[in-house]
Amino acid sequence: MKILVAEDDRATRLILSRALGSWGYDVIAVSDGEEAWQVLSREKMRLLVSDWEMPRLEGPDLCRRIRQASMAYVYALLLTTHKDSDRIVEGLDAGADDFITKPFNPAELRARLGVGRRILDLQDELALKVDELERANGQLAKIAATDPLMNIGNRRSFELAIGRVSQKAAREESRYGVLMIDIDHFKQVNDRYGHAMGDRVLSAVAAALANAKGPSDEVFRYGGEELVMISPGQTAASLHDLGERLREVVASLRVACQDGEAIRVTASLGVAVAPAGSARWEAVVEYADQALYASKNAGRNRVTSIPR
Ligand SMILES: [Mg+2]
Repeated sequence: MKILVAEDDRATRLILSRALGSWGYDVIAVSDGEEAWQVLSREKMRLLVSDWEMPRLEGPDLCRRIRQASMAYVYALLLTTHKDSDRIVEGLDAGADDFITKPFNPAELRARLGVGRRILDLQDELALKVDELERANGQLAKIAATDPLMNIGNRRSFELAIGRVSQKAAREESRYGVLMIDIDHFKQVNDRYGHAMGDRVLSAVAAALANAKGPSDEVFRYGGEELVMISPGQTAASLHDLGERLREVVASLRVACQDGEAIRVTASLGVAVAPAGSARWEAVVEYADQALYASKNAGRNRVTSIPR
């Protein structure tokens, strides 16, 4: 383990370095606090033995600087000739972890450094646990936001995403479109082929739409056999074109059954463009939904735009 020694007295520095080296430490020795600070800023050091009185930067000031910096925890042991408790309190307040008085007893120094290493080990374990927790939290957040069957965002993440997109559009005075996509006669697929096949159709449609969308578009499961896509930067005409393209993607999909039959489905779409600068997304979704109903009523497998 690496250890940094800061001591301006040459003889003490040599004694310290030799002792620490003989205990297996990898020693870097410097002669003042400023130099020690430079080493700490450059190299990852976890253990510091520092003299109190040194030119340029004293031990307590070095400790203070370390505690204010955002670096991995450095266990700092101050060497001092002061034995009065006011001074010890001053050093501890500055951020030192422990003290040893000069002239030091080597066995005591070694034992105190052992305590420091135990604390550093605990720090490392804690950091590992925090990492694990953060990773687990990230996974949970992803699971909570994803529809497990379609493997795309769920209704909850749709609402978060459209909130973000609509606020950005309001700030930038730009437009975005919403596309509601509903698989036609899906109940018949379930009735005829069973729910397992129905699920395969749902995931195939979701995968095909996720694959066909533009790079800044986002697709979500809205509910049941209904999906919703958010598409930033659209005009009414370009959004209608995108809707047509997605309709064709669904219509050309073939989902293979076990008996070799290929299930084909179609989808009805309702699309709406949010007026430039509008932050209220609920109305746009409502328009897209109305347009979807119009597509259903007009015979399905079609795209209806609002405004027309
Ligand atoms: Mg000194």
